[in-house]
Amino acid sequence: SAKSQGRNRYQFFTEDMSERTHERMQMEQGLRRAIESDALEVHYQPQLRLSDRQRVGVEALVRWPHPDLGMVAPARFIPVAEESGIIEALGLWVLRRACRDIVGLPDCDGRQMRLAVNVSVRQFLRDDFVTQVLEVLTETGFPAEALELEITESTVQVIERSAGILDALKRLGVSISIDDFGTGYSSLSVLRGLPIDRIKIDRSFVLDLTENDDARAMIDAMLALGRSLRMKTIAEGIELAEQADLLTRLGCDEGQGYLFARPMPLADLRLSLTRR
Ligand code: C2E
Ligand code: MG
Ligand code: MG
Ligand code: MG
Repeated sequence: SAKSQGRNRYQFFTEDMSERTHERMQMEQGLRRAIESDALEVHYQPQLRLSDRQRVGVEALVRWPHPDLGMVAPARFIPVAEESGIIEALGLWVLRRACRDIVGLPDCDGRQMRLAVNVSVRQFLRDDFVTQVLEVLTETGFPAEALELEITESTVQVIERSAGILDALKRLGVSISIDDFGTGYSSLSVLRGLPIDRIKIDRSFVLDLTENDDARAMIDAMLALGRSLRMKTIAEGIELAEQADLLTRLGCDEGQGYLFARPMPLADLRLSLTRR
């Protein structure tokens, strides 16, 4: 009958839903456990000055070695962590681990290597976020001047009105960069009013750079914006020598991508430093 068919459909629907809910709950549980037992890892991808291709910094990128699933990519678990709120503990864990790992490692000029750490909007909105950053810096001995926090354009819009956070971080000496720049909707006036140190040109523009005049025009515009607002520029996702060369000629300050190096475990980063 129609009634039983309806019920079957309903049952099918709920089974499907509960399966997905179950999967998600398992992932949340696994993530919580991984954080508590220090089972996450952080890999580091070098950032180079384009003029002489020397290493000036690294970006910390979290990795989750899962007992059944292998290495789970951030694209799979960061959204889950953000929706569930786990990102607050995860982000703090990454910040602490990365500061501990990178403190004392030299850049190409022998100074403390700059460390960029991704920060989610939920971390930023915590009342105690600035205190947490200060505590990690104190506890690890990492110099504030060498720490850079990467926030996305959407985060910039959310925190615009709750300003003061950025200013407080600036007072600590920490710098701020806007990740995936060009993909969000931040207006120029928002940018002008905020203490942003660096804009990070999104990979999608770099991908089309050598074949697509529009992508090149966009990058040109972003670099001009950076210059006029006295912000540094870095391009991410550089895979080809042609892309690096063109970005260098266009005046982009720094670059990051598989062409130079992939994200690597701390041990490999240390090795690459001693080999230089
Ligand atoms: P993102 O911050 O924009 O990081 C750059 C991503 O591009 C990284 O992916 C990196 O491995 C990848 N990448 C670098 N160079 C190249 C290249 O030449 N070609 C290509 N195809 N990809 C390249 P990953 O490590 O999978 O991270 C993905 C995203 O996950 C990050 O994008 C970031 O938004 C997020 N994420 C990673 N770690 C953290 C974290 O600790 N906290 C937060 N909140 N988010 C994180
Ligand atoms: Mg980033
Ligand atoms: Mg990025
Ligand atoms: Mg990106």
